[in-house]
Amino acid sequence: MPQEAYNYDTDQQNQRTHCEFSTTLMGTACEGPGEVRYAGVCVCVNHALLLALEERTNTLMSVVLSLDRLVEAPDPRADDLRLPRLKHQIREAEYQLRFSRLELDLARMQT
Ligand SMILES: [Zn+2]
Repeated sequence: MPQEAYNYDTDQQNQRTHCEFSTTLMGTACEGPGEVRYAGVCVCVNHALLLALEERTNTLMSVVLSLDRLVEAPDPRADDLRLPRLKHQIREAEYQLRFSRLELDLARMQT
């Protein structure tokens, strides 16, 4: 192998970073390559997916809570279809939340 090619490979390996996710469920540091930048942190693909799913799940929980509050606080100016629409949106958000939690559980088992 030519010397230049060897140095190039070595330099690339030295520049690679490890995943900066703090610890896995096993209590050890992730040793995956830091291939993805997520929220300013260099993490492996699996941890980037996990973080994205956690964020999505938290957002969906906030949506469900916000919609619940709207249902509990009737608006006298609203039309007759407001309540059925809100209840439909809550059911849809709850369905998405259940699916997101399932995806999150699966992602946690893989990391
Ligand atoms: Zn990782």
